[in-house]
Amino acid sequence: MKILSVNCGSSSVKYSLFEMKNEKKIAWGVVECIGLREACYVKQTINSKETKNSLRIANHTEALKLIIESLLDKENGSISDISEICVVGHRIVHGGNKFSKAVLVTEKMKRELKECFALAPLHNPAHYAGIIAVEKMLPKIPSVLVFDTAFHQTIPDYAYMYAIPYEYYKKDHIRKYGFHGSSHKYVSQIAATMLGKSLNKLKLIIAHLGNGSSITAVKKGKVIDTSMGFTPLQGVVMGTRCGDIDPAIICYILNKYPQQYKDANSLSSLMNNESGLLGVSGVSSDVRTILKMIRMGNKRSKLAFEMLCYSVKKYIGSYHGILNGIDGLIFTAGIGENSPIVRKLICKNLHALGIEIDTNKNNTYSNEQKFISTPESRVKVMVIPTNEELMIAREAKICFQSAH
Ligand code: AMP
Repeated sequence: MKILSVNCGSSSVKYSLFEMKNEKKIAWGVVECIGLREACYVKQTINSKETKNSLRIANHTEALKLIIESLLDKENGSISDISEICVVGHRIVHGGNKFSKAVLVTEKMKRELKECFALAPLHNPAHYAGIIAVEKMLPKIPSVLVFDTAFHQTIPDYAYMYAIPYEYYKKDHIRKYGFHGSSHKYVSQIAATMLGKSLNKLKLIIAHLGNGSSITAVKKGKVIDTSMGFTPLQGVVMGTRCGDIDPAIICYILNKYPQQYKDANSLSSLMNNESGLLGVSGVSSDVRTILKMIRMGNKRSKLAFEMLCYSVKKYIGSYHGILNGIDGLIFTAGIGENSPIVRKLICKNLHALGIEIDTNKNNTYSNEQKFISTPESRVKVMVIPTNEELMIAREAKICFQSAH
């Protein structure tokens, strides 16, 4: 059984084709800069090296056409007939209050997804375009929507509510939803295997640290709190997002700079695109560049970096309290998997919480899952490469099989 995982952004389509018998990724790639003068198609298969092509691609349908053609390619393709793809799983960032689990695509589901556009205006319309493109290209193959918000459905009401007038929850469904659900679910399952215990017996904190970051508290396999909120803006300091700030700052800026900030969009851009590491350092949103600038003596980069690590540390402390102790702390995603210095700074002076990391283990590069805590550490600290695409394929498989 082969399943195609698709992640459509506003100007990109990422894909992975899995053979579900052994969960092996057999082909993957990305089409970027769709609709621009020159798009870029990077692809690879289990049997062929990465290739890169520049070409003109007007929309998601053309991108999907290109992807399907390359999957069918006689020489370097991975399938001989389109019917070998059993299901397509689509990553959907925001399911709002409409979707609590993966669903098969129907006309009704598409209508309901459209009602969630306003909750993730950068992501959900792009996902929708991808669904329509897949329908055009693969009309006989069922599609499943897999939501980033689904894994967080178990958060209790006192944790997901905001203390604003209740009518906004009732009328507009303003509440915490949480994101990166596929990643948090995947790494918590791997952590249980690494610890040799059932997820039902574990209390975990997961630090998904990438361009966007979220920290999640998982008890007995269920999320009890997460740092992102109504949108992916809340929580820790991120690449270009401010994370938690006093909301009154926004009113203050709006009143003080009415010429510069005329509407919600301009303020949203300030908080989503011009803040975080980039906003504080004035240099970059990328941790690698920030670290380079720190080595060159750049003070604002140092400050931005310290703010990021401090904000993650605060969430770990807070969730450690809520969970009344933890068994495991997991680092994942671009920064969490690749930056020993970030992990070191976050875990520094957390002995009181039973967290102690081994410098050698932390510094040794590996792209495999590993423990980085000392043997004495009460909490097992792990680095686990995430695999959201596989999680999407797994969820799509379960949803498809239960519907048939
Ligand atoms: P993601 O959103 O999970 O793809 O993570 C992307 C981010 O990971 C980039 O913006 C970088 O800041 C960070 N990253 C990737 N590789 C490294 C590395 N070797 N050291 C530090 N940060 C890294």
